[in-house]
Amino acid sequence: MTLTPPDVIDRAWCVELDAHDPLARFRDRFDCDDDLMYLDGNSLGRLPRATPQRLRTLVEQEWGRGLVRGWTESGWMHSPRRLGDKIARLIGAGEDEVLVTDTTSVDIFKVATAALMARPQRPVILTEPGNFPTDLYSASGIAALLPHVSVRRVQRHELRDALDAGVGLLLLTHVDFRTGERHDMRGLTAAARDAGALALWDLSHSTGAIPLDLARDGVELAVGCGYKYLNGGPGAPAFLHVTRALQHELANPVRGWLGHESPFTFETEYRAASGIRQWLSGSPPVMGIAALEVAVDMFLEVERHSLAEKAASLTELFIRLADARLAAHGFEVITPREPERRGAQVSLRHDQGYPIMRALIARGAIGDFRDPDVCRFGFAPLYTRYIDVWDAVEHMAEVVSGGEHRNPEHAQRGFIT
Ligand SMILES: *Cc1c(COP(=O)(O)O)cnc(C)c1O
Repeated sequence: MTLTPPDVIDRAWCVELDAHDPLARFRDRFDCDDDLMYLDGNSLGRLPRATPQRLRTLVEQEWGRGLVRGWTESGWMHSPRRLGDKIARLIGAGEDEVLVTDTTSVDIFKVATAALMARPQRPVILTEPGNFPTDLYSASGIAALLPHVSVRRVQRHELRDALDAGVGLLLLTHVDFRTGERHDMRGLTAAARDAGALALWDLSHSTGAIPLDLARDGVELAVGCGYKYLNGGPGAPAFLHVTRALQHELANPVRGWLGHESPFTFETEYRAASGIRQWLSGSPPVMGIAALEVAVDMFLEVERHSLAEKAASLTELFIRLADARLAAHGFEVITPREPERRGAQVSLRHDQGYPIMRALIARGAIGDFRDPDVCRFGFAPLYTRYIDVWDAVEHMAEVVSGGEHRNPEHAQRGFIT
């Protein structure tokens, strides 16, 4: 973007930014209500307009008419690999290195367990206390299952020093779900490798938000979520990445018939498939994969550098406006200010964060709240407008200055925040 920002940003400037946005044309490809400021695509992405028709065809034609023939004639059986190869192009991995299967939680378990079983002399999983809970739970579950394994949690600035001879697996989330801070994935992967450990990256808050190049960064193992920035829909399947060099060494611990070399000869002994397919366990979630594929096909049209620039400039705009208009109301930006150190997310701390977020959602500006005091905003580059950022900040300033969050109806905590 070559526009020069004014000293004081106003709404007209945001309108100008939208008019010059090279990704603006993608917004029309989503089902968008222009009155809604949707800043929660990091929790559940929007619906691509093409998805309902794709699902209707799948259900009515492929399933309804084709029945069991759909497994071959409609390509259902091959879909975890077909979509895996497309996601590989998005994240800079190679062909036959990415598979769409299960959920992120299950994929973490599969890949992490395999990594530890391949490193019996190095029984420690190294992670950080702020990692996403599902990653931490998976690590503790693996330690409960494999008696020699233990989990070590250290603060992020201590991770490199903690990579000693006992560590078999470094398990981290690339972009922190709470603060939006981005790890140095390349540097930490190299540090782990130098120390003799494997590194498994959770890319749930990176994929579709910021450009990734796993091959360039030397990343060998990764997983990621399909329903956040990738827009695959609620409960979309996840993906896993195992680099070709490790595919012979690592074995899927959740053995099932579809990971077998020859599922339809129904052999009584397990023989792992060669290539990435061995990471399948049971049948693929065909409908979930179809919905996710529509969204991923759209991402394949996006220029990587436009994605990076827009993620950086939307978050930059929000941070500038937060400094100018919200700091006086008790908000503190806890996301790094250097664009290369954050994802497409900005988090603000406020001691009344929960009721403020409820009041904001009631006004049609949707973010979310994470304990203990964090208001979280995601800026999905494909459909978020600069004026959404401006308007959401206006609403926040109005909520707090008018004391709207003190309304008792906003104090009630739900099961989902
Ligand atoms: C959202 C998220 C997940 C999602 O896990 P699922 O099992 O696919 O629901 C995993 N890891 C991180 C870091 C996440 O933010």
